[in-house]
Amino acid sequence: MIISKLAGALVPYTAGEQPAGKTIKLNTNENPYPPSDGVTEILRTFDVSRLRLYPQPDADALRSAIARYEGVNAENIFVGNGSDEVLSFAFAAFFGGNELPVLFADVTYSFYRIFGTLYGVKYKEIPLKEDFRLDIAKFKSEKAGGAVIANPNAPTSMAESAEDVLSIVKAHSDVAVIADEAYADFSSVPSLTPYTREYENLLVVKTFSKRRSLAGARCGYAVGNAELIKTLRTVKDCFNSYPVNAVTAAVAEASIADDAYFKECTRKIIDTRERMTAGLRELGFELPDSDANFVFAEHGAFGGEFLQNELRKRNIVVRRFGGERIKNRLRITVGTDEQTDLLLAALKDIVSGR
Ligand code: PMP
Repeated sequence: MIISKLAGALVPYTAGEQPAGKTIKLNTNENPYPPSDGVTEILRTFDVSRLRLYPQPDADALRSAIARYEGVNAENIFVGNGSDEVLSFAFAAFFGGNELPVLFADVTYSFYRIFGTLYGVKYKEIPLKEDFRLDIAKFKSEKAGGAVIANPNAPTSMAESAEDVLSIVKAHSDVAVIADEAYADFSSVPSLTPYTREYENLLVVKTFSKRRSLAGARCGYAVGNAELIKTLRTVKDCFNSYPVNAVTAAVAEASIADDAYFKECTRKIIDTRERMTAGLRELGFELPDSDANFVFAEHGAFGGEFLQNELRKRNIVVRRFGGERIKNRLRITVGTDEQTDLLLAALKDIVSGR
């Protein structure tokens, strides 16, 4: 047998497509605005001879910059090659070989299920309530070997209150609870990072991909108690000592210094999101108020596959997931105002049969 039993049984995550050519790309929740001037400058002046050497194994300079930004110490920060990798290491570090299942929602970021399978982790999916809210009471009452909560959740775009998520952290104080805050910068719910000082089982995972327009650089990080972070580092060092390359580390560090620019981009995205939400509702779409840089919309009269295909014919790419409850919903990234106008115009044509 050339292929292992494990690999033979894996069903990998399907990343959203990256189409070549001119499309309006609203399918992978990237930021529509360019990285900051500081990022451009660091790439322009990057000392290429540094590429001869391995990078800092624990990306110390970047970790210190993130720690200052988050108001914690460098020992409380772990960085990885995108938050996907950080989450993957966290599954191995905190849930690998668990007796009790790790809990996550049935409709959430599908990578959690895949990491679970990859690391042979027992998991239990807790169905979202009818209105797509997290079943907080169930998350608290189940016996658990851990929990992972995307807040705001993907693909629903909805956020639970900090108090509710913290109540899950408290209910499972002897196991790790991960708050995946990939979209928290776009939310009215504040990040849970300050609570990592108080709750030693809370790990908050964040990314440079969305707010900081650096999806292509691949950088994510975790904030947590020094013991949790040390364990993540151990897992990392059993895999690849240098997952964050020197260019990415420099670029990510530069982006932190340009926070005002990203704040402004985030404000624009939130404004556009509100306009997009109103426009979609006017066209007959039903969608929850979004706390993220995407919306999750359904039209009572048209199927999701039909709408997605019609948009594609008009060079607009959006994302759709399988599963009975959500197959008719489109997950649409909030783009620029101009892209949003084109999206709404195209959908107007489609729903009015033009
Ligand atoms: N968590 C969630 C909920 C996401 O939607 C994504 C983006 N697909 C990620 C984590 C990973 O982001 P990245 O690896 O780009 O940091």
